[in-house]
Amino acid sequence: MKNKIKVGIPRGLLYFKYNVLWTSFLEEMGCEIMISPESNKQILEKGAQHSIDESCLSAKIYIGHVDWLRDKVDYLFVPSIASYSKNTQTCSKFYAMPDIVRNTFRDIKVITYKLDIANGKNERDGFIKFGMSINNNLLKVINAYKKAKKKQLEYEKDQHINQDKLLEHTSKLKILIVSHPYNIHDKIIGYPIKEYLNKLDVEVIYADKVNKPKSIEASRNISTDLYWTYNQEIIGALDLYKSKVDGAIFLTTFPCGPDSLVNDLCIRKVKEIPCAYILIDELQGEAGIQTRLESFVDIVLTKKIKNCKKTD
Ligand code: SF4
Repeated sequence: MKNKIKVGIPRGLLYFKYNVLWTSFLEEMGCEIMISPESNKQILEKGAQHSIDESCLSAKIYIGHVDWLRDKVDYLFVPSIASYSKNTQTCSKFYAMPDIVRNTFRDIKVITYKLDIANGKNERDGFIKFGMSINNNLLKVINAYKKAKKKQLEYEKDQHINQDKLLEHTSKLKILIVSHPYNIHDKIIGYPIKEYLNKLDVEVIYADKVNKPKSIEASRNISTDLYWTYNQEIIGALDLYKSKVDGAIFLTTFPCGPDSLVNDLCIRKVKEIPCAYILIDELQGEAGIQTRLESFVDIVLTKKIKNCKKTD
């Protein structure tokens, strides 16, 4: 029997956005998939060792995941995603990542697809080209993409429907985390924050579990000039949810250029709810963050009580 191709997927960056699409497609193509474990201290240390100092913490962690996988798989799956429309783009890390990985680890075989609408490269064609490099049965590749895309869209829909239901029914204090999915859902970046907020009896609401087309549209209420798609999605979530939550926490990693600009803009423009800003770096201690979360939750609670008294 022919051995299956073993493909590694680093559990970092866009894995947290596209895991359903990627794993479903590769499974349909008959590949064996290995996903690196949840981030941990060793992965972070390895990532930092192999990255340039100027790289953001999120990208360093991604490189740590690549390092964890590199001697365990035949190929590493590292997509290049540059733009979703003519006038928008992603952070440069997302389109440069296949090159960064190849240049960092010369022994790795990278497989990739390109999405760059501004330059005529759509997702479907990207997947077909990529799929044909694994199996030259065109029909099989097209069907694999269709099935995987359907699953991804269903998954995204379930996420925002479930979160909307939660927002309607919970009686807890609601705090929106305005952050990229690879930050808030990463075990060492965002997980300790959501865990601590849960301990404080807070319902955590996520900016990435939003209806994406609606959030892109809503982002224009905050900025019409912004062209980083992923930042549009999360600030659009802030605009859509601001009347439904009691406070917002901007969570970002050091030194993220897009976030530093966009978060500052939001904090100045969104006056309706209390906002806090948390910047995570490699040396971050948990105790300091917990104290800040406690005082922020106190502020949010006090404001909520005051507002309730006013409406009584
Ligand atoms: S948007 Fe910021 S956190 Fe995300 S990859 Fe780019 S620099 Fe890093």
